[in-house]
Amino acid sequence: MTTPMLSRRLLLGTTAAAGLTATSGLHDAVAAGSRQGSLPRDVDVVVVGGGISGLVAARKLARRGLDVLVVEARDRVGGRVLNHHLSKRSGGETIESGGAFVGPTQDHILRLAKELKVKTFTEYNDGSSVYISSLTGRMEYSGTVPPDPTILPDAAVLLTRIDQMASTIDVSAPWSHPSAAEWDAMSLGEFIRRNAVNADGIGNLIKSWTQPGFGADPDELSLLFTLWYVACSGNETNVGTFSRNSDTANGAQESRFVGGSQLVPIRLARKLGDIVALDAPVRRIEQRDHRVVVHTARGTVRARRAVVACPPPLVLDIDWYPQLPTRRLQLLRHMDMGQLMKCDAVYRRPFWRDAGLNGFGINDSGAARAVFDNSPKDGTPGVLLAFVGGATWRTYGPMSKAKRRQAVLEGFAAMFGEQALHPIEYVEHDWTKERWTRGGPTAVHAPGTLTQFGSAIRRPFGRVHWAGTETSTYWSGYMDGAVRSGERAATEIGDLLR
Ligand SMILES: Cc1cc2nc3c(=O)[nH]c(=O)nc-3n(C[C@H](O)[C@H](O)[C@H](O)COP(=O)(O)OP(=O)(O)OC[C@H]3O[C@@H](n4cnc5c(N)ncnc54)[C@H](O)[C@@H]3O)c2cc1C
Repeated sequence: MTTPMLSRRLLLGTTAAAGLTATSGLHDAVAAGSRQGSLPRDVDVVVVGGGISGLVAARKLARRGLDVLVVEARDRVGGRVLNHHLSKRSGGETIESGGAFVGPTQDHILRLAKELKVKTFTEYNDGSSVYISSLTGRMEYSGTVPPDPTILPDAAVLLTRIDQMASTIDVSAPWSHPSAAEWDAMSLGEFIRRNAVNADGIGNLIKSWTQPGFGADPDELSLLFTLWYVACSGNETNVGTFSRNSDTANGAQESRFVGGSQLVPIRLARKLGDIVALDAPVRRIEQRDHRVVVHTARGTVRARRAVVACPPPLVLDIDWYPQLPTRRLQLLRHMDMGQLMKCDAVYRRPFWRDAGLNGFGINDSGAARAVFDNSPKDGTPGVLLAFVGGATWRTYGPMSKAKRRQAVLEGFAAMFGEQALHPIEYVEHDWTKERWTRGGPTAVHAPGTLTQFGSAIRRPFGRVHWAGTETSTYWSGYMDGAVRSGERAATEIGDLLR
């Protein structure tokens, strides 16, 4: 059913995308979803959601010769991946408001980016990191864990145990682990309290990992879910580890994309051409007469199969007929998005580098608890990024922007000096306010969810298949997981519609 022109274009990969420059943004993202006018009445597959996972699924299905339509709620592609252009004063460079970092074993996103000619560069990591503790003060350090004598012994024991436990988990079925019930009954916070000498100290350090990584605090996360997340931080040949998840060098924060990560979905959507329809939120999905009927704000489309590739809580906003199976409904009701915002301050130069600092810092209090050097590849301008997540978001998120800005800048100054108080630009993005995401970076499992409902995560519902990073078995929650999930959903359908 595919139009010959489309399939030829997809198969040959000869589109204007290859010639795109590295200047992206909303304009390009809009242009990338180019379907104008009415939607087709009948296709082979409708893909709901034009984030990385939906676009990848669409491409794979179209390459198989199937007639595909992507319906995206927003007026842009990319979902949780969003470029931001700094002002002319700051040089007009691009930074990311959403997903940004990539690292080793994230082969799927790296392969896709390479294919789309989106280059990576190494995150600046020369020199020391900064650690600030309310108890022991400020110190500079290198490596994964700050050498704070009040937490080091606990960190050594707990991180080793977490890696050991995670290494025994089957990433495709964490609920089947012999200790699943025990581990899922407990939060990560409780595990820390039971096993640490200085539980407050190490708990605070671990918050600087969970708040940016999950948008949540240790008490909100099931231990089983956390161990599974660590197990997912690898690939089929490299077992997942805490340090691969949390580190910059050899870890998930090792690299970024030149021109911003949103270039990946933008270029992908350009290649897909007019099979991507923007401003088409899906309101209702019916399954009847051997068809899936997808009602969008731009019209109704019938399909043989559908892929739903939106964040789990957003699936619940769709009116389903027949209603979702109880187990899936329960699963989705228990998978809330984390709470996260990114706050960036821009300086003429990355002045902290002159002092031998790499721009990474953690603090056990304040608004800037996990900080990264977010400067573009050539280091001009200098950009410091604070992840404000979980309980820190709950404190600072509701404040006025002026108060939050001040708190973030004070956090940067405590790490890198007074100069940090005087940026030339300040930018922030609160993902809890995004209608079509509602938080970030990922949906999280509280205690009890994975073992009770987790096995429903990828189970198709009639003619509806599930994608989205949360359904991935490696790098769930990450761009790599989004690519993997889109590929997996497309394979499921491709095999059925062969
Ligand atoms: C602040 C932040 C920082 C992050 N940092 C990183 C990082 O450094 N590295 C990394 O790898 N990952 C990071 N992530 C996570 C990463 O961005 C996501 O895992 C990934 O982009 C998810 O892709 P997806 O396609 O699964 O979902 P999404 O990107 O959420 O795409 C889903 C799409 O569905 C659409 N949609 C929703 N409801 C409907 C509807 N009813 N009808 C039609 N369309 C609908 C949405 O608009 C959206 O476009 C971060 C995320 C955030 C928010």
